[in-house]
Amino acid sequence: MFEKLKEDLGVFSSFFFIMLQLTNRSLAIDTLRISEAKYRSLFENIDQSVIYLDATGNVVAINQAAEQLLGLPRDVIIGRKFNDSCVKVIKEDGDAFPEEQQPSVLALRTGKPVEGVVMGLFNAERQNYLWVVVNSVPEFRMGERQPHQVLMTLTDITRQKQSEGKLSMASVIFNNIGEGIFVTDKDKKIISVNEAFTALTGFTQQDVFGKSASLLHSKKNSIKIDDELSNLSEAVNSWQGEVWRRHKSNMDFPSWTTVSEVRDSSGETAHYVHVFMDITHFKKAQDHLGFLAYHDPLTKLPNRLLLKDRIDHSLQNALREGSQAAVLFLDLDRFKGINDTYGHAVGDGLLRETAKRIKNLVRKEDTVSRYAGDEFVVFMENIPNAKNPAKLAKKLIDTFNAPVYIKGYRLKISTSVGISLFPQDGHDTETLIKNADAAMYRAKKEGRNNFQYYSLELTTEAFEKMSMECALRQSIERHELILYYQPQVCLKTGELVGVESLVRWMHPTQGLMLPKHFISIAEDSGFIVALGEWVLQNACMQMVRWLDEGLNVNKMVVNVSAIQLLRSDFVATVERVLGSTGLDPSYLELELSGSGFMDNSEQIIKTLNKLVALGIDLAIDDFGVGCFSLNNLKRIPVKKLKINNSFVADVLNNVDDEDLTRALIALGHGLHLQVIAMGIESKAQQRRLMDLGCDEGQGYLYSSPVLPWSSIFRKLCASNIFKA
Ligand code: C2E
Ligand code: MG
Repeated sequence: MFEKLKEDLGVFSSFFFIMLQLTNRSLAIDTLRISEAKYRSLFENIDQSVIYLDATGNVVAINQAAEQLLGLPRDVIIGRKFNDSCVKVIKEDGDAFPEEQQPSVLALRTGKPVEGVVMGLFNAERQNYLWVVVNSVPEFRMGERQPHQVLMTLTDITRQKQSEGKLSMASVIFNNIGEGIFVTDKDKKIISVNEAFTALTGFTQQDVFGKSASLLHSKKNSIKIDDELSNLSEAVNSWQGEVWRRHKSNMDFPSWTTVSEVRDSSGETAHYVHVFMDITHFKKAQDHLGFLAYHDPLTKLPNRLLLKDRIDHSLQNALREGSQAAVLFLDLDRFKGINDTYGHAVGDGLLRETAKRIKNLVRKEDTVSRYAGDEFVVFMENIPNAKNPAKLAKKLIDTFNAPVYIKGYRLKISTSVGISLFPQDGHDTETLIKNADAAMYRAKKEGRNNFQYYSLELTTEAFEKMSMECALRQSIERHELILYYQPQVCLKTGELVGVESLVRWMHPTQGLMLPKHFISIAEDSGFIVALGEWVLQNACMQMVRWLDEGLNVNKMVVNVSAIQLLRSDFVATVERVLGSTGLDPSYLELELSGSGFMDNSEQIIKTLNKLVALGIDLAIDDFGVGCFSLNNLKRIPVKKLKINNSFVADVLNNVDDEDLTRALIALGHGLHLQVIAMGIESKAQQRRLMDLGCDEGQGYLYSSPVLPWSSIFRKLCASNIFKA
């Protein structure tokens, strides 16, 4: 078009045209300048980060937004490859972004825009990744097919990426954490549970979805979580504590639980998040630790701490109730020698065996403690009398008569025991233990293998009793027991109605002893069973002899203790004696004497019925002072009541005693029982008792207890009439 104009206008026109051309050009340049300035200003001030790369991939321009985003000045970046300049480029999965796949490179190579590529740009200075979405648009010069540059825009998505990361991290934690988690809505309905929750409780998401959180609350709990949660506030928005959780199988387990309240943007409760862990093992370990704190690990016995605690507590009760208690301090004799000779393993075995033997001997309510080394303490609370601990001490000493076998060794040991009593030897735990320990040292000094009370008198008494018991046990084989007989008489006619056998013991050094000095020892030691059988056997034999001789004796009265009746073989013993002696049971009357009938009445009543079924008569001794309740009296098939000496002695002088005796006689008759008075010494007593309606009598007025071959006795029996 310019060439045609040139031809038409000629030279002038050429000049004009040149001028026009120049003017147009400068106008165009101006326009271009203005446009470029506008463009530059736009480029610089736009929020979008923009970078231009040339055809070789080098940065040629970068705007301020991009500079800020990358945190690098443009002179560091311009002229360098984008990823060389300052950044390491990674893909979303964290792997390095290969250069040939980067959007700018692709756009340059393909000539097509590459959009929406997520890249992580590592900033070495800040040491973190910047996440951007990159669009790369190739630009072409007129007529060229290859882009001469590429425009790259970068949009910062770091925040979005971070929150995405946090969410996925929370999800990973929720499902992989070992603690059980369940989330409820504000109404405490379960909306979500994690995998550990199912593993711990057995409940799946399906089992519990939409159900109340109380479903997971065991009945064993004393706390109410709902109450705790109602106390939460904005300042304190979580609660922690021990909670018993329900397991689907109903095997509840203890858990340590944290409940956090989650509020929405308006501050209202939106959710509760319960996080809990099973603490069964921890609790077991804790219990074990608690056990170890108060027990000796070797013998499993209470240690000093627990012993002190128990004694302290018990002494308070004892003080309130006015009861007695005892501390027994045991020390194994020559234990050190065993430890040194056989080694510690054997020593430990011996201590364990000692603990076992002691425990086998004590009452349920007693405390056995390993106090130290080879020292053991037994605490006996509520003891009936001061002699009781001596019995246990004796048994403890005797238990070591049997050798101990440990690891193939036969060990013979002994123990020394010291006893202190509450309240007489001390009012507090320390003093009682200290004094029992002192007594134990005295026992060691006395030659070991024995016991000592802290109080010397009690020791003497206990030893006397012990030596008496020992001698008594030999009385049968040494033929030291002797039976005396005392007649029982009908008060009205003076007729002989029976003879009571009364045992005596010819003690080897102390001479003839009356029953009051040895019957209680025999009862305490259990020897009464053998003694009673001996009496029964000999009394029955004597009766058979008298009957054979034609003496007029109707009844042989034999005293029986409650301890004998408690033996399951008592009836069989009586049958055996009757069988061996050939005595007809109707000649035998058993007099139930002593205490102990009340405690075991049911068992005893059964035995008494069996005896009556054999044809034996029963009488109750010491009626009025003994321990038969009136209620039991109705149920016992007894024939006779024996009124105790004490009433008879004062029946003449004391109106009260006379009234009581009259009442006892009336009571006996009311129950259709015969009544015999004991201890009649004078005719006046006999008359008064007759007036009061008493049926029979026994006492020195007729005869004192005598030997069977006594001539007076035989004469009386032969005539059958006592002319008192
Ligand atoms: P008990 O059965 O009440 O025996 C009567 C006791 O009174 C006898 O004492 C007797 O000697 C005594 N006595 C008899 N007449 C008179 C009297 O006129 N005045 C006084 N003051 N006393 C009189 P003993 O022989 O010392 O027996 C005491 C107790 O020992 C007996 O009391 C009985 O409970 C018990 N006993 C005796 N022999 C045996 C026995 O073989 N086995 C059992 N378990 N206990 C026995
Ligand atoms: Mg009697």
